[in-house]
Amino acid sequence: MCYAIPGKIVELKGKIAVIDYFGEHKNALNEFVNAQVGDYVYAQGGILVDKIDEDDAIPILSFWKDRFAELKKIDNKISKIETSKPKNEFEEIIQKAQQGNLLQKQEALTLLKTNEPEKLKLLYKTANSLRQKNLENACCVHGIIEFSNYCRNNCTYCGIRSDNKELKRYKMSPDEIVEAAVHAVKELGFKALVLQSGEDTSYTTKDLVAIIKKIKQQCGVLLSMSVGQRSQNCYKEMYDAGARGVLLRFETSNQELYKKFHKGPKANFQERIDLLKYLNKLGYIIATGSIIGFPNQTEEDILNDILLTKSLNAEMYSFGPLIPHPQTPLKNTELSDIDTILKVLAVSRFIDPNSKILVTTALETLDKDSGKQRGLLAGANSLMINVTPSRFRKQYTLYPGRPDRDKEITKNIEETLKLLYSLGRAPTDLGI
Ligand code: SAH
Repeated sequence: MCYAIPGKIVELKGKIAVIDYFGEHKNALNEFVNAQVGDYVYAQGGILVDKIDEDDAIPILSFWKDRFAELKKIDNKISKIETSKPKNEFEEIIQKAQQGNLLQKQEALTLLKTNEPEKLKLLYKTANSLRQKNLENACCVHGIIEFSNYCRNNCTYCGIRSDNKELKRYKMSPDEIVEAAVHAVKELGFKALVLQSGEDTSYTTKDLVAIIKKIKQQCGVLLSMSVGQRSQNCYKEMYDAGARGVLLRFETSNQELYKKFHKGPKANFQERIDLLKYLNKLGYIIATGSIIGFPNQTEEDILNDILLTKSLNAEMYSFGPLIPHPQTPLKNTELSDIDTILKVLAVSRFIDPNSKILVTTALETLDKDSGKQRGLLAGANSLMINVTPSRFRKQYTLYPGRPDRDKEITKNIEETLKLLYSLGRAPTDLGI
């Protein structure tokens, strides 16, 4: 079983490969594998990551063929909405978004400030239908390896902050990281991985480059790095080594809040934004976003977070609730309710209809039973599954109560796939 369906290249337009998935065409960059028309390939994030022999691709495709059509049917049914004449201003805004019009700031704010259950239901349903209309049932499933919980930063919300002396620290050796990544690709079937850590500068640029190169030599995978504010040179070298994605949240667009809560040697908001812009220019796929639920954060701030994410040309929106950690200064912060987060996902879908919107682990933590499902039905179309070896996973405590903490990786994968299929989602690439 795997979380990506192979497609067949039907056309090459310069550096762009057009891939056919059961009649649906998606574009991807022809990198890494030097593919030709007629080749079977895996793509992730709009980049070709691996070729697969026709003999191996055919049985996988025949397994998927009927299932793919079935899933689409399920998704179409679930995401269908009836349109009726708007009865109030809220419904007018919803209809405007549904028809593919961009919302004014004030209109988006009205949506973020909504609290009535019936209106929220309509908001989520509309975001889900817009997701289906623009991107069909494609869903990204990334694996994440958390390779070190050492961090030079001291953010007041984060459990791995440098002042947290109660935390047992760990760092995986480069060989352990490579082994975990290759295992996730070859044994567990992932085609996209995120390597995340605290800002741990004990891994030099040379170390990170060597890790990326070794993984890329051994398997075809889209590698994203989530290692914080490293130098431009470090990111350039990691790109040259084969990394193509970056997950780096700006945490909050409100500079006052940023200054108050994000602490550390590199805690400069503008530098973080400049780095994100540089990374985008370098060609990285950007995943960014913010934390929802800082004390004194307003709906205006949240809307600015969504707009900043868009202006940074993000491919993936990453928004999640602040989960108070008992060993941090923000331990007594009030926990957001799930609707606060679902609203952000839905409004993000309206503001950037073609984006990938992530259901974060923090959202899953907020509602262990149905956070994932509710996120996917409110406009989201991306997931991450924790594939950190279990002996380390317990210590990567950005926040407490993570549902994946003690779960077997294979069980987590199984449950996630079951959920995706029940919602009619399929792991094809979203294309570019
Ligand atoms: N060093 C990397 C990874 C940081 S940890 C970087 O700087 O990007 C990943 C994310 O966890 C952070 O960006 C932050 O948004 C989130 N996080 C940290 N503490 C949290 C908490 N208490 N609740 C929710 N999210 C938290």
